Amino acid sequence: MGTSAAYFLTRHAFFDPEIHSIILLEAGQLAGGASGKGGGFIASWATPKCLAPLSFKLHNQLAKEHDGAKIWGHRNVFAAEIKLLGRSLDGKADTPSEIDPASVDKYPSKLDWLLPGSVEQYNEIGTPSNSGQVNPFMFTRTMAKLAEAKGAKLRLNCSVSAINYRGNQEGVESVTFTHEGVSETIEATDVLVAAGPWTPRLLPAVSLLTPCGHSVIAKPTRPLSPYVLFPDIKPAPNNTFSILLSPDIYPRPSDDLHGFDTVYASGPDNYEVPLPADTDSVDLDEKKCNDIFVSMGSVSREIHDGEIIAKQACYKSQIRKHEEDEEVGPILGPLSVKGLWLATGHDEWRIQNAPATGLVLSEMIFEGEARSAHCKGLDPSHFLNSSMRL
Ligand SMILES: Cc1cc2nc3c(=O)[nH]c(=O)nc-3n(C[C@H](O)[C@H](O)[C@H](O)COP(=O)(O)OP(=O)(O)OC[C@H]3O[C@@H](n4cnc5c(N)ncnc54)[C@H](O)[C@@H]3O)c2cc1C
Repeated sequence: MGTSAAYFLTRHAFFDPEIHSIILLEAGQLAGGASGKGGGFIASWATPKCLAPLSFKLHNQLAKEHDGAKIWGHRNVFAAEIKLLGRSLDGKADTPSEIDPASVDKYPSKLDWLLPGSVEQYNEIGTPSNSGQVNPFMFTRTMAKLAEAKGAKLRLNCSVSAINYRGNQEGVESVTFTHEGVSETIEATDVLVAAGPWTPRLLPAVSLLTPCGHSVIAKPTRPLSPYVLFPDIKPAPNNTFSILLSPDIYPRPSDDLHGFDTVYASGPDNYEVPLPADTDSVDLDEKKCNDIFVSMGSVSREIHDGEIIAKQACYKSQIRKHEEDEEVGPILGPLSVKGLWLATGHDEWRIQNAPATGLVLSEMIFEGEARSAHCKGLDPSHFLNSSMRL
């Protein structure tokens, strides 16, 4: 979130590198958390409605302007909810006898990387006109580089320990952080807190759930056509599997991180694992990653015979549990202390909503209010515990 805000702040008409200094303080490395490890699915029909269509449009514009198709694998895609039957493929060929003739017309022929006979139901929820994807790791890092090229300063391995205020929380004064064991304080007129799930550690009045999600990136045996799938996978009858996960599956094109097509898949949210101290201390559960790979390999020979190239885990910032299309947050805007700003609680849609969030924040900070979107409903006053000091 911080990198998108830095990008749009440096593009704002009022930004003058001679008088403004924008410093991005990152506790670890860029995109070390969910912004580098999420799925990267984007859609104009995402929530909240006040940001999503604008943000989807900005994603298309950014990709055009900065070669996003090549660098961060931006492309428009189909998306579907799909019921699948998974099979154990070890030592078995996909014999034509496995094809259920009734399933042949149930889904588009271009979706040709699912096992014959595995599709029970196909429900298209997105098309290339309203859905797309990015590699979030490359997107986040490129936004930071582009902000840097226009004058923002990136300070990595700088963990903020305190935001210091004037008087009785009348306005922000400075920020204290630790870099290589040494404490530093820099003066600031404005401070934007965009620390994702770690935000409450800097601002205790903010309350968040922080579910952990495991994911896998694999190299399939051939490029997979651009269908992002939100499946419900059940073991096929008379099969060795008794249970399978239903990971979201995102085929990805080649980008500047991997010079070849990949496929990303993420498993369910886990609310039991406590949030670690920082992105470097996230524990990886190998079994959870292997289960994701086995499940997606049970519906696709191309994935089953491919190889895992990354196993990872990260934490989302969630305001509360909610239904899929229910609008809850993000929290976005000014706090009661002059010069203090907040952007968090983006849940499953931050990569999608990052450009619009960055744009409206740049307007709020430079002009006092958002012009590009009506996002008063996301104001922190609707979400914060007002009886607590920041
Ligand atoms: C498995 C999974 C799949 C997802 N898929 C998608 C998807 O397909 N599409 C989509 O739009 N969204 C998706 N998301 C959601 C999205 O990834 C997150 O909402 C988003 O990355 C949050 O961005 P953020 O910048 O707020 O937080 P983060 O990416 O967590 O970044 C917070 C940063 O703050 C830094 N930080 C923390 N404390 C401090 C401190 N004291 N000082 C300095 N720095 C600090 C951290 O090091 C970190 O780099 C997914 C999330 C998960 C977990």
